[in-house]
Amino acid sequence: MSALKKVLIVGGGIGGLSTAIALRQAGVAQVDVIEINAEPKVYHVGIVVQANFIRAMAALGIADQAVEAGFPYQGLRICNVEGEVKAELSGAQLAGEQYPANLGLTRPALHKVLLDAIAREGVNLKLGLTFEKIEQTPEQALVTFTDGTQDSYDLVVGADGVYSKVRSYVFGEQYKPKFTGQGVWRYNLPRPKDLMYSHMFEGKSGGKVGYTPLTEDSLYILAVWEEPGNPFFDPNSLADEFQKRLDGFGGLIPDLKQQITDPSQVVYRPLEALLMPAPWYNGRVLLIGDAAHATTPHMGQGAAQAVEDAVVLGELAASAPDVQHVLDGFMERRYQRCKFINEGSLQIGEWEQRPTPDANFAGMMAKMIEVTSQPI
Ligand SMILES: Cc1cc2nc3c(=O)[nH]c(=O)nc-3n(C[C@H](O)[C@H](O)[C@H](O)COP(=O)(O)OP(=O)(O)OC[C@H]3O[C@@H](n4cnc5c(N)ncnc54)[C@H](O)[C@@H]3O)c2cc1C
Repeated sequence: MSALKKVLIVGGGIGGLSTAIALRQAGVAQVDVIEINAEPKVYHVGIVVQANFIRAMAALGIADQAVEAGFPYQGLRICNVEGEVKAELSGAQLAGEQYPANLGLTRPALHKVLLDAIAREGVNLKLGLTFEKIEQTPEQALVTFTDGTQDSYDLVVGADGVYSKVRSYVFGEQYKPKFTGQGVWRYNLPRPKDLMYSHMFEGKSGGKVGYTPLTEDSLYILAVWEEPGNPFFDPNSLADEFQKRLDGFGGLIPDLKQQITDPSQVVYRPLEALLMPAPWYNGRVLLIGDAAHATTPHMGQGAAQAVEDAVVLGELAASAPDVQHVLDGFMERRYQRCKFINEGSLQIGEWEQRPTPDANFAGMMAKMIEVTSQPI
């Protein structure tokens, strides 16, 4: 029987829903999730995930559904500006031979897999709700919700993303994500039928560009580019601005570039990152996912790290004798790994903006695959 009887999760995103599944499977009697949006709201761009994400999904028992909902592709090709392949990284099939090492998914498809699983596991999801107050005693966390109701919990998990309100409420306003100097541009386009690898083009100062398979029918094209001063872009200018960042690259880029025509379909995000110092808990409130360790997309590991958090928390909830052991065990297993991803991703962005002779994107990605292949 779990040391945790009743848990509240704030945030129904990738990390929050995965944690809810893991805790119910660990035997936690009641798991409530509150999500501020009245309806699940996800970006229309897709998400690409690697073998450690699929392994974590397998631990939650939903790898088959995730793979079914997605599009397996064969790996990453790192190219020079002209498009010549300099390195190829395929990753290992960590979840077993029947599962791929790389998967593209639309966000709504991933969300459906997670929502179906929480319904099966008997999680209480309350949409359009957040917290007002969290008051702690040694025995419980008493939560007042924005609808005026109150309830008490053994543990509150802050899974409310990069701008976490739980984080500022419990740890203070001093911990804020920092703009890294770059922004990411994304756009969905039809996938040429023979495109089975993600391609990244590097070699220009400022950033890199690329494209990656997403579904049977689609890919997304991206640019991670230096954006000095974190400018605001007129929404009508987004297609033109994105096109400018793709100038001068080879491969399929010129052909794809001219298909970026609808500014309303461009997703632009300034890159921000944050790594909370350890521990990520205070009393009975624990931060997970982007709330604790928001990374830039350079290693493609944001979602995987959130789901790994969920798996580890579930394992500890099932085995640790009390809440304190759950929390300490969690930090022991999660801090160094998330720190490596956070710092490694920032380092790649630094190299892109201020190249140095030792800059080695392929080497850093190979190291990431090595680290994330280790058991969680
Ligand atoms: C455009 C974009 C593309 C990305 N692409 C990739 C990718 O290809 N691969 C990858 O691995 N990662 C990618 N990431 C990163 C990845 O999405 C995140 O790392 C991951 O979603 C983190 O999960 P999370 O649950 O911690 O946070 P989120 O998924 O952000 O979920 C947080 C949830 O909390 C809710 N919430 C917020 N505030 C409150 C509140 N006060 N009360 C209640 N609920 C609240 C939000 O509505 C949301 O549902 C991308 C991110 C973005 C923005």
